[in-house]
Amino acid sequence: MSKLKEIDPEIYQAIYKETLRQNETLELIASENFTDEAVLEAQASVLTNKYAEGYPGARWYHGCEYIDVVENKAIERAKTLFNAEHANVQPHSGSQANMAVLFGVLKIGDTIMAMDLACGGHLTHGHKLNFSGKYFKIVSYGVSPKDERLDYEKILSMAKKSKPKMIIAGASAYPRIIDFEKFRKICDEVGAYLLVDMAHIAGLVVAGIHPNPVPFAEFVTTTTHKTLRGPRGGMILCRKEFAKKIDIEVFPGTQGGPLMHVIAAKAVCFKEAQAKEFKVYQKQIVKNAISLAGELSHRNYRIVSGGTDNHLLLVDLSEHELTGKEAADALDKAGITVNKNLIPFDRRSPMVTSGIRLGTAALTTRGMKEKEMEKIAEFIEVSLDHPYNKKVLARVKKEVGKLTKTFPLYPDLLKSFKKS
Ligand SMILES: *Cc1c(COP(=O)(O)O)cnc(C)c1O
Repeated sequence: MSKLKEIDPEIYQAIYKETLRQNETLELIASENFTDEAVLEAQASVLTNKYAEGYPGARWYHGCEYIDVVENKAIERAKTLFNAEHANVQPHSGSQANMAVLFGVLKIGDTIMAMDLACGGHLTHGHKLNFSGKYFKIVSYGVSPKDERLDYEKILSMAKKSKPKMIIAGASAYPRIIDFEKFRKICDEVGAYLLVDMAHIAGLVVAGIHPNPVPFAEFVTTTTHKTLRGPRGGMILCRKEFAKKIDIEVFPGTQGGPLMHVIAAKAVCFKEAQAKEFKVYQKQIVKNAISLAGELSHRNYRIVSGGTDNHLLLVDLSEHELTGKEAADALDKAGITVNKNLIPFDRRSPMVTSGIRLGTAALTTRGMKEKEMEKIAEFIEVSLDHPYNKKVLARVKKEVGKLTKTFPLYPDLLKSFKKS
């Protein structure tokens, strides 16, 4: 890092401080994770210099012989990992993966059915300011008020009425297993495509802890930086018959040159995900989420849907006279990072909310287990009991510091900062 320090000390300082922040706080944002040094190295490589518009063996630029090796490896590994017929590893993000699928196979104005944002859907599933909401007619399905889970009968009857061209399954804040087979049946009854957006759960799918959507859906999109623990980016898996359409819609349809340094890092991530240890890691993520949910409900916090099957949980704060925003702000001061989040049938706005979303993928990467989850639940309880008491929050932060110190993150990287 010595060159960066010399050329741009302000950016150097910010990166150094962010590395310290990641080390010294408890990262419970459900969409985040910590990649390892191998992924960071690939992403920080000279591949960032190379233009490679097109696909392996058919580029618009010369000098792509090593770039092709990288992209072919990423594609092959992705196909093996998820048992997919075709993979496009070029989308810059999960949102761009969804954009390419929607624009690739639908016409502007077509009807899409997708999960309501308040029930856990993503912006690209029809938010009115997002391309999905602007260019398509969106019919939103939610969860049942009874058990806060997907109600497949209701989704079917809605689909029969609205006759969508596509149904999107998948979410950013749904703590339960999604039954892709049922979604397939619904799509078949109404003649709709099925797009599964597995951005959050891709790592669990690799480990076999969540059913794989690939056998059921024409299209599967994902990010590579959440439970999958790779670089920030997106990917599309699809059936062979749609391969050309999807590839054309990614480039030149919605993107120019691929980020080859990121694709290299994706390839590294896919290789790591093939290892036995990755399955052990994913299992521990879920064990930790179940444990954290249990510990919090012992402490009288209502967990949406009563618990979790995956890496995340939603805490309903409505009975604690706290909003999601107040809770997340207080926890921030205690060194615990979470999102405020809408809960199903939330009466508050998305800026305020009645809930917080907690995920265990990042802390599990640090090696934390059930014992630590118990401690963390206690930290959360104490902080939320005294959300405006600076002294209490500072005391919790000190305890957080002690805990994070015993699970060091990027120790070599920190040493290199200190040396430079
Ligand atoms: C995170 C997420 C995305 C988009 O990811 P970006 O890379 O931030 O664009 C898409 N869909 C779902 C369900 C997500 O959770």
